[in-house]
Amino acid sequence: MNKNNNNVPDIKTSNISKVENTELDTKDNVKVIDNLQFQNNEEKSIKILYLYPDMLELYGDYGNIQVLKYRIEARGYKAIIDRYSIGDDVPNFNDYDIVFAGGGADNEQSILAEDLVKYKDNIKDAVENGVFFLLICGAYQLFGKYYKGVEGNIIPGLEVFDYYTVANPDRKKRCIGNIVIETKVGNVIGFENHGGQTFDISNSFGNVLFGNGNKFGDSEEGFFKNNVIATYLHGPLLSKNPELCDYIIKYCLDRKYNEVVTLAPLNDKFENLCREQLLNRFLEK
Ligand code: GLN
Repeated sequence: MNKNNNNVPDIKTSNISKVENTELDTKDNVKVIDNLQFQNNEEKSIKILYLYPDMLELYGDYGNIQVLKYRIEARGYKAIIDRYSIGDDVPNFNDYDIVFAGGGADNEQSILAEDLVKYKDNIKDAVENGVFFLLICGAYQLFGKYYKGVEGNIIPGLEVFDYYTVANPDRKKRCIGNIVIETKVGNVIGFENHGGQTFDISNSFGNVLFGNGNKFGDSEEGFFKNNVIATYLHGPLLSKNPELCDYIIKYCLDRKYNEVVTLAPLNDKFENLCREQLLNRFLEK
């Protein structure tokens, strides 16, 4: 597999596990994470498969990979990130702890859908085995039955889930803007921009507090079932919602190492300040 392909910048490996010694941490009296815990974690890793980084990357989706890497390494674990795009060696989805794919325009979706369906069985198997899938917007749509474009053209989906998406016939009318949803991991903040209207969702990711959701003016957003979160929220999603990122990391560690992990807290002072501002702005009556 080509691990450094495409025009997406390579992620620099930094020794982020020293984060507990920074001035910021000391000044803000954030609980210091003890070094022993870091050392003990060095043998452990989380392996991420980043799908179609050259075609599915809108509104900061790549930031989700950066945030995952940062928060995994800050706890002393290794973050291994492989990329797959058309023409690369066939990936085995079961080899990974997390599969991530971002959003893309209809045109990109139709091109890569042909490639993606080749892996349908392997992907279904990985979903059933508990590999965590984080799918944003265009990728969310492709895991359903189909996406029907503005011209009535059908882009076949992977049919991993029963939902389907139909593009709004008026190209100029899209669900665009900031969005806040209430989920089982707290309020999740993001940015949506989709013409597609998604129907037949069995388990939504959250209730819409601000913004549109699966359709114009919907009360529900996204799809969340066990080890799959599929959502319209770009943002990047995980930088605006560190708790959600940690939820995914903990899920992966618990599953992989068959234990109940308590993640060491990080200094999220700026993330939390940012969230507070955004929530006040969007949810104020
Ligand atoms: N092309 C899809 C739509 O407009 C997805 C867009 C996206 O990924 N942001 O609905």
